[in-house]
Amino acid sequence: MSGPQTWAGDWIREEQEPNDPAMIPPAQPDTAEPQTGGTCREHGGQLLWFCFPDNKLICPQCRSRCLNHRTVPLAERAAHIRATAREARELVIQRLNLIRSVCDNEEQRLLEEIHAEEERAQQGILTQRAHWSQAAHKLSNIRSYLVDTLTELDDLSLVNSDEAIEERTEEAEGILEPQDSDKLNFNPNCVQSPMLNRLWASSMFCCSTVCEDLAFNMKTTGPLLALTEDKMLRFLQKKPKNYSDEPERFNHWPNCLANKSFQGGTHAWKVNVEKSGAYKLGVAYWSMARKGSGNDSRLGYNPNSWVFSRYDKDFCFSHNSEHQTVELLRSPKQIGVVLDFDLGELIFYDPIACVILYTHQTRFRHPVFPVFAVADETIALIQ
Ligand SMILES: [Zn+2]
Ligand SMILES: [Zn+2]
Repeated sequence: MSGPQTWAGDWIREEQEPNDPAMIPPAQPDTAEPQTGGTCREHGGQLLWFCFPDNKLICPQCRSRCLNHRTVPLAERAAHIRATAREARELVIQRLNLIRSVCDNEEQRLLEEIHAEEERAQQGILTQRAHWSQAAHKLSNIRSYLVDTLTELDDLSLVNSDEAIEERTEEAEGILEPQDSDKLNFNPNCVQSPMLNRLWASSMFCCSTVCEDLAFNMKTTGPLLALTEDKMLRFLQKKPKNYSDEPERFNHWPNCLANKSFQGGTHAWKVNVEKSGAYKLGVAYWSMARKGSGNDSRLGYNPNSWVFSRYDKDFCFSHNSEHQTVELLRSPKQIGVVLDFDLGELIFYDPIACVILYTHQTRFRHPVFPVFAVADETIALIQ
């Protein structure tokens, strides 16, 4: 399949093609003559040599002072640098080409999956249409037969054709739905691609401008949380804060909402969790309960919140009291959250290890707020 210009193809501009001779500088003749005629400021001599320990060009007179220094002719040094540059360029091109070809293959695979799924659904629709029109035809024949029988036969013949009538009735009842085309919808799972997801999440976090400029909404924080001077959210083990009891404040759990909500589009934010051994991150509806110690105000234990959490060595994703254990070899130092509101996708990502920790699909019905909980030390938003 050869589609239009692919996004992967745009990565490397045309003139950077490895085969383009313009990209590779013409080899310089290796002569001992300096090309620019640079002269030594101190002695006025031509700079014909390179001294390694001094890391500079020197003239023959300088060189007589560099007796114990390793020196090479200028041209040799220049050739070495050019060769190193060529190797570096080739490495970059090789890697970009590999990525490009992997992306092209994945693009083709996914587009073929989508096409196949579209065809399947389309075929199902045609099959059903044919089936139902055939069924309608059959039923209309049976109806005509029955009407004729009832109107044209005398009582005796009618009684005698009892069996035939029953047969026809059974035939009518036997018209069932076609079994081979029960799925007339487009299956969106056909575009599930672990590679694309990973690249997508990496791109979100590599491009720092994509990350939301968030802050903790201190009017919502529970009494065991405080904001430190360097804007970290700290768990207070012993002395609860005496916050005023606003309606939006969690008055039991150590929870905190962000100052922003999202109701469409794609958003990403990053949290430094390196210092904390117990935290939760995710999203919640504003309507989530704030008061008391019940599940309705506990993150991940009600229908209004979705969180990834750590407790000591255990990681899990929780929503509505359903907990999905996440096996991790190493505790992430940072966690990135990607929210695709329209698609209903929530991705938890380790931006340092470039690993997707957990992906959850749902349908958000209201705006969601980034949400946090801390039960050990501190966490911080990374801007
Ligand atoms: Zn000199
Ligand atoms: Zn020297």
